[in-house]
Amino acid sequence: MNRYWPMERGYRVTSGFGLRDGGWHWGVDFGWPGGSGGRAVYAMAGGRVDHVGPANGFGRWVCLNHDVTDGGGYTVYGHVVPEVAVGQRVEAGQRIAHIDPDPATNAGVAPHVHVEVHEFTWVPPGPGRLEPLPWLGAAAYPNERPSMSTMFGIDISNHQRGFDFGAARREGFAFATHKISEGTWPDPCWPRARTEMQTHFPEAWGGYVFCKVGTDPELEADTALAHSGGACRLQIDYEDLETDGSIEDLSARITALTARGFELLPIYLPRWYWSGHMCSPSLADLPVGIWNSHYVSGEGFASHLYPGDEHPGWAPMGGKHIDILQFSSTANVAGHLIDVNAVRGGEPALDTLFGKDTDMTPDQERQLDEIHRELTQLYPSRSHYSDTDQPLDTMAGYLLNVDGRVHESSIDLPAALERLQRAIDDLPTKIAAALREQAATTPRRRLPNPR
Ligand SMILES: [Zn+2]
Repeated sequence: MNRYWPMERGYRVTSGFGLRDGGWHWGVDFGWPGGSGGRAVYAMAGGRVDHVGPANGFGRWVCLNHDVTDGGGYTVYGHVVPEVAVGQRVEAGQRIAHIDPDPATNAGVAPHVHVEVHEFTWVPPGPGRLEPLPWLGAAAYPNERPSMSTMFGIDISNHQRGFDFGAARREGFAFATHKISEGTWPDPCWPRARTEMQTHFPEAWGGYVFCKVGTDPELEADTALAHSGGACRLQIDYEDLETDGSIEDLSARITALTARGFELLPIYLPRWYWSGHMCSPSLADLPVGIWNSHYVSGEGFASHLYPGDEHPGWAPMGGKHIDILQFSSTANVAGHLIDVNAVRGGEPALDTLFGKDTDMTPDQERQLDEIHRELTQLYPSRSHYSDTDQPLDTMAGYLLNVDGRVHESSIDLPAALERLQRAIDDLPTKIAAALREQAATTPRRRLPNPR
């Protein structure tokens, strides 16, 4: 489901949903550091424009009605200057308004946009108005190419008993895994989790086995299969602190589990465990990539916490790419503080990891994604002499401009040369004419009279 923040990356939440000044604030206020007036406002989901124009307390507002196919619900954007018309279809992330800078017309507030999320249709303040930030949990940022953008997923254990997978899905998470077993201990929450994930994450779900190095790999794999409800996609979780691991031990577990029909997701192997408890072996011969962990500090929503596609957590390890990065264990998802994970490269990359058919290898997907980014995203200038930190045009846009200039100059330059040549050709005639004119107007010099 496509959801977007109502402002570009860099916004600030200036007032949250909840108690405020003895009353209840039924929306969230977004602003921009250094001044919000005139800043663009974007549709948080695709939908149809339902209201535009004057509204009590807002100055002006825009209201969008979202079909089921767009995720459903109704969103409101207040204190804005609308840029869309009633009845118009807008896409998720499309610009729909800008923040009204003028207190004379914005209902007398410091410029900001107030957004509301209504569960089904517009309702007066009260139940039926949702908390916008969780609803936006894994939203994309406007103008940042959603189709290939980084996607977020969750992994759950028995510690999050009764976890609401449907809520996580509605918050925009794209994949989910849950613990099946730990050594020879079966996780009692797994059977329910499996059903829930199949319902809410039908294309990207799996189980994980927390490997105990002291447990016989065959016994561990037997436990996992017996409890799994049928072999499924599997995340091997290799981080046992009781006993140091080794590449030989890990390989034995991979063999035992795949022999029982499990299909491997990237292997969850935190870099600190690989270097500190396995002596940094080569991982080049592993049949799949790595699921690393590298936590940022703090609690919050996944897309707020995510440290970015260039974060050192993504650096290859032991000769293997990092396919999935677990970047926090304290992200706010469906009302719990849990682990969150990122996959770069959007849906194509996710499809590859979770086994949707594709002709491309993960390496090819990655290369394609890199090319796509270079072609279509905004970048800061790489010049030492750059006098702005504003991002530059896309490579595609840049090439189109260069092409335009070259094309224009191929017409303009010969024309200019022709004008110049004509001027040169005319020069002798003009000089002769000028000389004649001068001769005609200059009085003839008289010779002095001889004495
Ligand atoms: Zn507000």
